[in-house]
Formats: sequence, C-alpha cells, structure tokens
Amino acid sequence: MAFFLTNGLYLLIPDNMVKNSLSSAAEVRQMADEIRSGNRRALARAITFAESIREDHQEKSQALLNQLLPDTGKSIRIGISGTPGVGKSTFIEAFGRFLTDAGHKVAVLTIDPSSKRTGGSILGDKTRMEELSRDPNAFIRPSPSGGSLGGVARRTREALLLCEAAGFDIVLVETVGVGQSETTVSDMVDIFMLLLAPAGGDELQGIKRGVMELADIIVINKADGELIPVARRAASEYKGAVGLMRPKSKHWTPKVLMTSALKKIGIDTLWETIEEYRTARSQDNELELQRENQAASWMWAELGESLMNRLKSHRQVAASIEQMEVKVKAGKVSPTAGAKELLAIFLEK
Ligand code: GDP
Repeated sequence: MAFFLTNGLYLLIPDNMVKNSLSSAAEVRQMADEIRSGNRRALARAITFAESIREDHQEKSQALLNQLLPDTGKSIRIGISGTPGVGKSTFIEAFGRFLTDAGHKVAVLTIDPSSKRTGGSILGDKTRMEELSRDPNAFIRPSPSGGSLGGVARRTREALLLCEAAGFDIVLVETVGVGQSETTVSDMVDIFMLLLAPAGGDELQGIKRGVMELADIIVINKADGELIPVARRAASEYKGAVGLMRPKSKHWTPKVLMTSALKKIGIDTLWETIEEYRTARSQDNELELQRENQAASWMWAELGESLMNRLKSHRQVAASIEQMEVKVKAGKVSPTAGAKELLAIFLEK
C-alpha cells in the first residue's frame, strides 16, 4: 500500500523528462502484461527493479506494483524459518515438488540480511534446491543482498506481490534466524512454520521463546532412521511447551508435526495441516484481518523509514546531528530536548 505514497513521485518528474517518462509508462504497461501472463523473465526483471536503489528503477517499480496490485493477494503465503543445517532447503525442495506435482505454482523467496549475492552466501547459493529450480512451475529467488533488514524486507514483500501477479498461488518465504528476520517474515505471511532439529532438553531452552511464539506449525525435521525416537521425544516436549503458550488466534492452537525432508515423509500431512489452518482461521475473517493489519504496518514502516531517511539527509540536520549526539551523551542536553531541536531544524524549511 506504500506504493500509493511513493507513486506520487510521478508528479515530480521535470518537463524535460516527460518524454522519457511517457516511454517508460508504456514500458511499465508492457511489463505488467508480461508478468500477468506468467512470463518468468519479466518477473525476474521486475524483481531486479524492485531491488535496485536507482531512483528511476524505483519509480518504475512502484508504477508497476501499482498497476499489478489488483492481481495480487491470491496466494497462500507461507513463512519457513529454522537455523542453518536444520534442513530448510531439503525441506523446501521436497515440499515445493509435492506442491507442483499437485498442480500448484510455487515461488520461493528468501530473507537473509547478511546475504551478499556475489559473496557466495549460503542462502544465495544457486545449487540449493536444484530439482525445484529446474521445475517449470517453481520460481526461486535468493535474498536481496545487503542493506538493513527493513530494506531487505521491503524488497521481499514487493517480490512476493510480483510473484502473485505472475500467477504463483503459493509463496514460500524462507529465512535463516538472523536478528529479527523471523518476526519480519511472520509479518508478511499467512502462516509461519518453524523447522526444528530432532533434539529436546537443552536445545529446547536454546530456542528463543519469542520465535516459538510466532510459529503456527512447528516441524521436527529429520524424523527418519535412528533419529525417529529422538524426534518423537522432541515433538512431545514441544507440544508441552506450545500448550503453555497463549495462542495468537482464537481458532488455532499451534501444531507440532514430524517430517523427513530427505525421505519425503510427513509432507502430505503437513499440507493437510496447512489447509486445516486456513479453514480454521477463515472464521471471523482472521486471515483477512491479519493481511489488512500487515499491509497497514508495512505502510507505517515505509513512512517511518522514508521520514528517517529524509531527516538524516536534510543538510542542516545532518550538520547538527552528530554534535547533538555528543551533547546528549555528555548529559549536556536531554535526549528529548535534543530530538526536539533537530526536529525543529528539519521542519524549518
Ligand atoms: P539448511 O541449512 O537448513 O538449508 O539445511 P539443508 O537442507 O542444507 O540440510 C542440512 C543437512 O541436513 C544436509 O546434509 C541434508 O542432507 C540433511 N537433512 C535435511 N533434511 C533431512 C532429513 O529429513 N533427514 C535427514 N536424515 N537429514 C536431512
């Protein structure tokens, strides 16, 4: 929804650029058509525009999203989190193939704020999910590289909308637990799944409580071979832990399941559980309300970030901000007074 805010940029294009902008308007229309028809190259290019920090790319990207907005929102958005090594890519490969076999079109997006695409990050590695990446009904896009978590999140949200417009009816958003990335992902999906290793006891304590509380489904992966008894024990421990938490929803209590991504066991039951979740949470329009709230908080986050960027790049504010910080640290100016003074400089155009 933030597009409406930034879309206003079109009005600011100077006269000498109007010709340029007209041709780009036609280009945007064409790109929108190509995306709607499911053209993957157009989709990939649109995501590249969304990720670019170049102003002309951003303008194009916002115009494109604006046009495509009515075509978005029709997918099931699924978040998948878990520490490295728990089996996320093996799981997404198995789950993704299961879904495309059932006739779905699956997009996989990743949020990894530490990702530097050329630096060979784990999540950006092209060899992950090899089979799925060759599947014509799947589309895999690694994390946008660099920048703040907020920036990475915005670009991923936009990519999610673009994938929906391109006809992907299931979007998986994967994250590795870095900083607040789990919260960020849970803020953009309908259902949040936490993948855990088959281990209990001490490990249970090691999982951040906050992350457990975000989970709608907890999946104990690697439940195969000699790990089966450990996985069962872990599952019952987590069931106990979940039972003590206050549920997020009136209609859904988080479920604990076991899978083997490697042996492709438990994937069908997991999908059934996701469908049960959707049915349960369509009561009282819970899922719809969740999406509405997510869109609104996205707008507020955009607004906060844009204002902050404007403030920091304001010449006079920039000139005073460091000095003010020194004074505040030294206790010479109170933080409130410091903020007020900087704000006054900013507002005095
Ligand atoms: P990620 O870092 O979370 O993406 O984890 P990977 O998918 O790369 O898996 C890490 C390791 O765990 C690999 O050696 C996988 O083969 C293995 N693995 C993943 N899923 C399973 C599973 O269900 N069972 C077993 N036994 N091993 C698994």
